[in-house]
Order: sequence, then C-alpha cells, then structure tokens
Amino acid sequence: MAVVSFREASRVFPSTPPVRAVDKLDLDVADGEFLVLVGPSGSGKSTALRMLAGLEDVDEGAIYIDDRDVTDMPPKDRDIAMVFQSYALYPHMTVAENMGFALKLKRVAKSEITARVRQAAELLDLTNYLDRKPKALSGGQRQRVAMGRAIVREPAVFLMDEPLSNLDAKLRVETRANIAALQKRLGTTTIYVTHDQVEAMTMGHRVAVLKDGLLQQCDTPRALYDQPTNAFVAGFMGSPS
Ligand code: ADP
Ligand code: MG
Repeated sequence: MAVVSFREASRVFPSTPPVRAVDKLDLDVADGEFLVLVGPSGSGKSTALRMLAGLEDVDEGAIYIDDRDVTDMPPKDRDIAMVFQSYALYPHMTVAENMGFALKLKRVAKSEITARVRQAAELLDLTNYLDRKPKALSGGQRQRVAMGRAIVREPAVFLMDEPLSNLDAKLRVETRANIAALQKRLGTTTIYVTHDQVEAMTMGHRVAVLKDGLLQQCDTPRALYDQPTNAFVAGFMGSPS
C-alpha cells in the first residue's frame, strides 16, 4: 500500500520568469519504506517535501497520504513529522521538554508524554541527557534530540531534509547508519532528502533522482547504478560508462 502519493504535483513559483520548482511529480512511497530523494542543489527536493508537509502550495495535481487527499489540508492535520537541516532546539528548555513540546501543544496527557519521551530517548541513546539544556550537548546529541522531537509524535510519515548537513564528516557517517537502523526498527515510512550520492546509495530502499524539478528515475540503489535510464542519473550515481 502506498502511504504517500504525489500525483502530477507541481509547485510553480510566480517569479519572472516563473520557476517550475517541482514539475508534475508522480511518486508513490510504500508503507514502511525508506525513500531517499536526491538531486543537486535547486532541483526541487525541499519544495517537494514542503508540499507534502503542507508548507508549500500545490499549484497543479494532488498529494495523498493513506489514500486521503491532503492537497489543501492544513499542515497540523497531516500526521507528518519533519526534521529540518536547521533543527533549532529551544535553548531554555531541557532535552525532555524539547522532545515533548509538540505533544504538550496537542494536549497529550503528561504521563503519556513522559512515556513517549523516555522511549524515544532510549532509542536515541539520550537517556542520560534528558535534564540537560541544548547548550550542554554535542552537535550529534542535538541532532538526535531533533530526531526525538519527530519520533515522539509517532507520525505516519517522517520527512528529513538534509538532517546531517550541520555535522562534521565523521559524525555524519555514524549518524547515517543510526538513522537507517532506527527507521528499520520503527518501520515508519520515511522520505529522506540529500544531495549526497553516498547517502542515496547506502541509506534507503529506493532512490528518487530529481533534476530541475523533474523526476529522472526512481528505483533501488542497485538498479540506478546498474541501469540508469539517462546520462544524468548515470553521472550522478557514478555508474561506469
Ligand atoms: P533543493 O532543495 O533541491 O536545493 P529547492 O526546492 O529549495 O531545491 O528549490 C527548487 C527551485 O525553486 C530552485 O530553483 C529555487 O531557487 C526555487 N525556489 C525555492 N523556493 C523559492 C521561493 N520561495 N521563491 C522562488 N523560487 C524558489
Ligand atoms: Mg533543499
């Protein structure tokens, strides 16, 4: 079953000339799938995620989550949690408060918030840091708190937009593996945006390649490498020519 479906979905920014940032995107993401959306800077990755999250208008076509047309649905009703590149934490709140804040806004019971935060902290190896403020954490720990904020919401879909770009190279490699393992464990349908070919080749079940707002190919990393359907995909994925 497809959890997420883009149906000829476009976002056209009304600049002069207009920019077709996402152009008739047709894409299905299956239940429990880890899909990597990859492409060079400006190819429309963030815009596509923001359309799905309801943070950007859909000018043509439609988007479905669990067979429900969400094209015009407010973001808060979409059962999605997003981890951004700049995952600002609230500096005056502890790790636990940062992780539980969205649930508090949704008036989830205090005991339920505590339980979910504790569970997420265990998954993310943050149990000993729950009472700390963000400034007393390393970059990698802060990144995990940002993940925790998404996990406690138990959404139908996780969206991650270059969540590792603030980490140094060594930590990025470690965190990559952790995110992939975590996704496997939770089984939550995930769309992960990156411009990094290595992340695309190693993290997901399938990879969707975007260029200039146009979907070039969507397949397993192996198939993209072995059978790229055009020269751009071949070049981008480093296939032998
Ligand atoms: P990516 O995330 O792949 O780097 P984006 O989705 O951010 O790409 O951008 C896709 C295209 O849309 C780019 O050409 C970008 O300049 C343009 N774009 C993004 N946001 C806006 C905006 N608010 N107004 C006008 N053009 C935009
Ligand atoms: Mg982007």
